[in-house]
Amino acid sequence: MKQNLELDKTGYSTKSVWAGEDHLFAEGATIPPISMNVTFGYEDINSWQQVAQGKTAGHIYSRNSNPTTTVLEEKIRMLDGAEAACSFSTGMAAISNTLYAFLTPGKRVVSQMDSYGGTSVIFLNFLPQHDVDVTLCDTDDTESMIREIKKGCDLLYLETPTNPTLKVVDIYRLSRVAHEMGALVVVDNTFATPINQLPLSLGADLVVYCATKFLCGHADAMGGLLTGRKELIQKVHEFREINGAALDSFSSYLILRGLRTLELRMLRHNENALKIAHFLQNHPRVKSVFYPGLPDHPDYPIASKQMTGFGVLSFEPDSDFAGVKRVLENLKLVRLAAHLGSVDTIAGPPSTTSHVEATAEERKKLGIPENLIRYSVGIENVKDLQMDLDNALKHV
Ligand SMILES: *Cc1c(COP(=O)(O)O)cnc(C)c1O
Repeated sequence: MKQNLELDKTGYSTKSVWAGEDHLFAEGATIPPISMNVTFGYEDINSWQQVAQGKTAGHIYSRNSNPTTTVLEEKIRMLDGAEAACSFSTGMAAISNTLYAFLTPGKRVVSQMDSYGGTSVIFLNFLPQHDVDVTLCDTDDTESMIREIKKGCDLLYLETPTNPTLKVVDIYRLSRVAHEMGALVVVDNTFATPINQLPLSLGADLVVYCATKFLCGHADAMGGLLTGRKELIQKVHEFREINGAALDSFSSYLILRGLRTLELRMLRHNENALKIAHFLQNHPRVKSVFYPGLPDHPDYPIASKQMTGFGVLSFEPDSDFAGVKRVLENLKLVRLAAHLGSVDTIAGPPSTTSHVEATAEERKKLGIPENLIRYSVGIENVKDLQMDLDNALKHV
């Protein structure tokens, strides 16, 4: 360890670069090696037992812990200002492990209707099979969410900003009510990342990430992360050890590589997205823009209070779905793919991206327009992106 390096007092980019890496690795390596080994050998049984019993630090078996993955966990722990962190094979593994670790039969979870498609499937199809009472509230209606929490709540699950309509939910206010009822508060912070929002400082108990998106940032590895208080993380980690949704070391290495530039990338995503939002708002062939950084967005007041920037936007061209398809197919600087949060710009309609699991009718019920284009703004030159959008919008 570097002497007197007080990382908890440093800025994001310093933490991004140094957290978990303020010492040399095996043979003096400055960067954590990819520990592809399954297991960790010991010369004597006593020291093996010490590690197995958690009395000394070390690794036993890579489903439980792995040195490369541990560095990644330390980095996100520092970035979120959390006591502990845990990693998972995917974002959905992080979400499902967290929910299943705490929700036993008879418990009640309150959440919002606009959650990531996969999360909604857990709420609507799987948790009820285990006699967990799930109540999903209108995401725009904070008062009804508060009423439902007050009827009894063991876990409040929030996702903000939401996918793909970029609604923003008041974490501080809802956490306070949930804590009065003795509930745990879990926030999916995938869209914001620690750079744009710190849910733990707003009252959340646990923060869950799909690390596949902005944290990795290069669309080349999948992963999930969880941060929060030590005893809560331990409980989820025990569950993960047994159901086996561990993150592998190669993906950990790639996500680590992405995390080192997290602040640089997010500031550029934010800056580009804001410029594109203004550009689209003033474009004659665009009907509406969904971006919480625009003052006429209904959640602008709370968004500007709890967040410092916004990297994703959605918009509706002024046309039918055939026109939307033409716009998408005429965009050149864009990947048409089910992904977001990468250095490259990515776009698609909800029916093939965030809400591929839902039917057209369900999307309508959620207030998600079929003609919406989710546009995850990359780090490209923003003038190039604006020109590309302008050309494509000629085809509506
Ligand atoms: C993509 C995403 C997930 C799921 O993550 P995977 O790594 O694909 O399992 C969860 N929540 C949000 C908000 C997402 O965007």
